[in-house]
Amino acid sequence: MLLLVIHMKIVILLGAPGCGKGTMAARLSAQDPVFRHLSSGDMLREAVSKETRAGQLAKGAMKRGELVSDELIAEMIKDTIMGIEGECTLLLDGFPRTIEQSVILDQMIESCGAELQAVVWLDVVEEDLIDRIVGRRSCPDCGAGYHVKTIRPKTDGICDVCGGVLVARKDDNVETIRHRLSVYKESTMPLIDLYRERGLLRRVMSAGAISETVELVKNALG
Ligand code: AMP
Repeated sequence: MLLLVIHMKIVILLGAPGCGKGTMAARLSAQDPVFRHLSSGDMLREAVSKETRAGQLAKGAMKRGELVSDELIAEMIKDTIMGIEGECTLLLDGFPRTIEQSVILDQMIESCGAELQAVVWLDVVEEDLIDRIVGRRSCPDCGAGYHVKTIRPKTDGICDVCGGVLVARKDDNVETIRHRLSVYKESTMPLIDLYRERGLLRRVMSAGAISETVELVKNALG
């Protein structure tokens, strides 16, 4: 009898910009090394800062708050997923973002023998999203994330982890955020129904303290 050993589980973190996907993935992977955080936005920002070919292709769309092409994003994600060795639960943050990307993900999962464990939808009331995004700060040196009201560093503007000077993302301005939210509604929200129909959706209301939401996500994953 052939025994299939699944070495990689995949959890999709789904939700609007600012819902806390990156924060949840960072907290979970800090608590348990089985979790690995893969953020398509971080990968793209790194490509832009290193001025790679992918970065040059993505830069304009990112600045406008639009999606980069499915082909470009698929190529980047595929290379990373295929390179992962050992047992892990991969937390996908920002991918898939369209129905087409979900099909691409299904193909990747099939070809590397992984398992799609669950899709966690971090649901946030829309009024809260803009506040959350406008106050976001991150460390360009180590990637640690902060918020001017809810996740404050010990010294204003300075990273607790490495002492780097915190910055806001270029696309975290009110005008671009409104556009990103409309892109989310049009292109990404259809994934909620798709994964609900497949029995994979776990809805988590992300309204309280971050630590409470982390517990809700862990419960949702069983
Ligand atoms: P994020 O950090 O997830 O908010 O992503 C920042 C920006 O990167 C988005 O506004 C898009 O321009 C681009 N991006 C990230 N992930 C994707 C994706 N899966 N598909 C297309 N564009 C993406």
